[in-house]
Amino acid sequence: MSAPSPTAHSVVVGGSTAARVIACPASVRLSATVPPRPSSQYADMGTMLHNAIADTLTSSLPRSDAIGSSYAGQTLTDDIYDEKIAPALAALDVIDPEEGMTVSIEARVSFGDWLPGVFGTCDVLGRLGNRAVVLDWKFGDGVIVDAEENAQLMFYAAAAMRTEEFRPVFKGATEIELIIVQPPEVRRWVTTPERIRQFELLLKRSVTMSESSAAPMVMGPHCRFCPAKPVCPLMTGAAARAVDTQLVGLPARDIGAALVLASQLEKWIEDLRTLAITMLTAEHPIPDWKLVAKRGMRKWIDDAAAEAALLALLPESDVMEHSLVSPAKAEKALKKLKLDLAPGLYHSISSGTTLARADDPRAEALSIGRQLTAALKHIQ
Ligand code: SF4
Repeated sequence: MSAPSPTAHSVVVGGSTAARVIACPASVRLSATVPPRPSSQYADMGTMLHNAIADTLTSSLPRSDAIGSSYAGQTLTDDIYDEKIAPALAALDVIDPEEGMTVSIEARVSFGDWLPGVFGTCDVLGRLGNRAVVLDWKFGDGVIVDAEENAQLMFYAAAAMRTEEFRPVFKGATEIELIIVQPPEVRRWVTTPERIRQFELLLKRSVTMSESSAAPMVMGPHCRFCPAKPVCPLMTGAAARAVDTQLVGLPARDIGAALVLASQLEKWIEDLRTLAITMLTAEHPIPDWKLVAKRGMRKWIDDAAAEAALLALLPESDVMEHSLVSPAKAEKALKKLKLDLAPGLYHSISSGTTLARADDPRAEALSIGRQLTAALKHIQ
């Protein structure tokens, strides 16, 4: 079987945008006003991996045939297979150890006339006993995705329940299991058909609200991937307020809120620059701005010829560089031989401290002053 084509997305709401549209219905109309963002290498890598695992599952593609498959310049290597595809396939064995699950791969699901224009593609749909299974592969490492109350998976479950072809998957099911496989992690949450029906009512209400010019606009974590961010009045207003905020003397109680705003604005700045580059590349002028070539980096035209020419003039130590690989790289290489990195060979040194929310699972770093105070308390 050939690799599936990249998934087409609903312009109203799809699985990956469900949480945002529910939280901020106004984002639908606003997103339609900005040009589509160019794909990134991370997105292309995700598509390549989705295609590879879909092919592997639908046509029992052996590893040797999967290696080398590519999409938009991203190629499946042995290392990437070991890191992403192999653990994802192993997760399926844990979920369905008896191999009794009937599955549909890359299932196109939609709400039909109940919610026109709203559809998506679910990675894996299956049925095990009284339980319907809805699974999504997440191959990125940047954002940890949880299964509990996951709007994307609930969207797929609700749409699949309304798609004629997949009704048998849910017929008589008393439980619906939502699963995120984000190698090496698997996160699972079991819910009920009733919860999914509640969710779809909320989704429908949000989509209906999104059609109104008075649709609610709400900032929050869902803004992260909103395409309308560069032109969103809440974001631009927040940026203007941030610029006007006098940091000297800012009370501690306001610094926490300002830090939340700062992380939202960081992504806004990044998206604003991407939008400007997209427009200028497409020859839409932006007053006072233009594209220029980045500074050139010198590269050898022919490595072997350059090496020979330089060795004729300089000692080898001035021409060649050898350095030890990092513990992470060494560990990866050893893993292939099913060997462990000896703990006595390395230590972990923090390069300093970084900001985190109070509910972050990492232990709080103590300052030297506080460590001394704590130690003195023990002496007294
Ligand atoms: S950036 Fe946030 S607040 Fe603005 S439209 Fe998008 S989701 Fe809504």
